[in-house]
Amino acid sequence: MDKELFDFLYSDLQFIHGVGPVLASKFDEVLGGRRVLDFLLHIPSYVRPREILDSVMGAQNGDTITISLMVKSYKKGGVFHGRRRPSQVLCVDKFAAPVVIQFFNVKFLDYWVEKLPIGQWRIVSGKLDITNRGATINHPEFIELPENAEKIPTHQAIYPSGFGLTQKTFSNVRDQIFKTLHERIDTHNCSERMAEFMDALEHVHYPLTNDDLAPNGTYISKLAYCELFAHQSAIAINRRARTEQKNIRPIRTKKYDLIDKFYEMLPFKLTGAQKNTINEIFADFQKPVPMMRLVQGDVGSGKTMVAMAAMIKMAETGGQSVLLAPTDTLAQQHFAKLAPMCAKMGLICDILTGRDKGAPRREKLTSLKSGRTKIAIGTHALFSEDVEYRDLGLVVIDEQHRFGVQQRTAMREKGNNPDMLALSATPIPRTLSMTIYGDMDVSIINEKPAGRIPIKTTKLPIFKVNALIERIATQVDQGAKIFWVCPLVEQSEISDLTAAQERYEQLNKRFPGTGLCHGQMDKKQRDKVMAEFADKNSKMRVLVSTTVIEVGIDVPSATIMVIENAERFGLAALHQLRGRVGRGNLQSYCILVYGNNISPDGIKRLDVLCESEDGFAIAEQDLMMRGVGELLGTKQSGWIQYHFVNYREHRDLFKLAQKAALNNNDSDKIWSQQLRNIFDCSTIAGA
Ligand code: ADP
Ligand code: MG
Repeated sequence: MDKELFDFLYSDLQFIHGVGPVLASKFDEVLGGRRVLDFLLHIPSYVRPREILDSVMGAQNGDTITISLMVKSYKKGGVFHGRRRPSQVLCVDKFAAPVVIQFFNVKFLDYWVEKLPIGQWRIVSGKLDITNRGATINHPEFIELPENAEKIPTHQAIYPSGFGLTQKTFSNVRDQIFKTLHERIDTHNCSERMAEFMDALEHVHYPLTNDDLAPNGTYISKLAYCELFAHQSAIAINRRARTEQKNIRPIRTKKYDLIDKFYEMLPFKLTGAQKNTINEIFADFQKPVPMMRLVQGDVGSGKTMVAMAAMIKMAETGGQSVLLAPTDTLAQQHFAKLAPMCAKMGLICDILTGRDKGAPRREKLTSLKSGRTKIAIGTHALFSEDVEYRDLGLVVIDEQHRFGVQQRTAMREKGNNPDMLALSATPIPRTLSMTIYGDMDVSIINEKPAGRIPIKTTKLPIFKVNALIERIATQVDQGAKIFWVCPLVEQSEISDLTAAQERYEQLNKRFPGTGLCHGQMDKKQRDKVMAEFADKNSKMRVLVSTTVIEVGIDVPSATIMVIENAERFGLAALHQLRGRVGRGNLQSYCILVYGNNISPDGIKRLDVLCESEDGFAIAEQDLMMRGVGELLGTKQSGWIQYHFVNYREHRDLFKLAQKAALNNNDSDKIWSQQLRNIFDCSTIAGA
């Protein structure tokens, strides 16, 4: 029954025959989990291209081989002296080594004779038996003319791997898992849908051709639909739960006039998109259910001011707001910008991060608890256990995808159903935003503040990098600051880190005081380097970093962004990195340095970036050109990492799944619950 199946799916891989704790923890690293289910959700990326052997010499007993053979003669089988003998076709390989093809079912000899005419070459595929009588292939799976060799499918599924796990280990574990499934569990006793699901999984783990792994092939699209449906039904449940709770939003009445003062104080005019978003937020404030709104806007589109308007509107009622930033540095930056504004309006604004300790911290907490502090800016320190609020009405989360569900829940529990406002710099095509961000209303800021100077973006082959360094030197002399990003690919973190290190050493010689920042440093060190770089007066002109440089960090004097191995990043990630420059009123540049192995498609992708600065257009292109799942930097970009879903290929399925989830009737309930368990929907945005 289904329960048995699930018990098995949730069991630890170490109990699979031949695995054990050591292998299981390696799998954990590669799969992101160590359950049988995690293995099953990790699918082969391709089927190994067929390799036609010229000779049996190197092959091992038991290998499935594909080989060119020339037919020499036949030996008819039959029953001789009471013993059955197979029919044999005697062949030689390209090195004249003999290989015998055997058939036990003699009746069909004519058929085989036709397929294997004497004196001709054929491509034969089958399992090789090597005995002391020589090399034999019994009942080949395929016999083709050399010109039709591509008709022979290959069978070796190649899994994305790492941590020293070999393909052989993968296929052994897979075989064991499916053996258990067949022998012990017999999925045919499960619900029909569950059995079909398992069947599709099996096909994908035993692909015969690459078509079996194609996003639009029968199996992957079926699995992708299930995954999307799981996801969408989780979203639908959340939404229903939220909107069915009526009148749980505390009623707050306006006590002070602040918002007009704020508008008057602004040194610039809000863009139309900023105004619209602010209006949407204010309308949410009037509704009986708490706000759940995501503001999506490109870097530099001015989301912070929108959040500020919302916090001030909240302060008009005496309610408190928090602005949650993902790092200390970002919190400091927000505070530096917003505190003076608050001061002018007579609002108490404070900052709380992990750095606050002892008496000063206690003082801050007292002020929060009394309700005196109206706007608190900070990091997760804002929802430490001992932090209390008098009337927390609004939680603003900057770069929302950096916060997990637990953190969001913790924050929400500090208040009485506070409104939630999330800010994200990841532009997502409109068609997908609802499905990706789940149970949130979305506002889009698709307009840049006036007067911005477009960033000049160019691409450059790596062999010209020294010339680039000299060009940069001129800019540095004139006071420019430079971000220099080297990518870090998870699989080879160490060698990539050396690359960043080497580049740092080279640049540090040329520009003494250059900074280095990477993921292996602890957060404090990183924050320190970042803060030094951001300081206008520091000597640090160049900052070499892996992609850990913080999303949202504001260094107005930074005007040059160099990205090495740009071809390894997704467009959205590149666009986000580029957004680190061009924030001041100086001409900024982004240089995409690409490696020697870049493909023509890779060049095209970089061209998209050179030609456009519209984050939404770029995100759309990114979707069209490549599936998001394959892209680097996806963790940072906030896209959900699906197992089977391909954002580009499965766009229609998104809508279908959404519709089905909204109509989910009783008979589907168990099934959709099962799918939600399989695809672990506990982290759905907005949950
Ligand atoms: P992001 O959307 O990336 O968070 P910010 O809110 O940090 O953008 O805004 C980027 C910069 O633009 C800030 O220095 C901010 O003061 C400024 N800014 C915001 N709105 C406007 C506007 N309407 N006109 C001019 N400058 C603006
Ligand atoms: Mg921002």
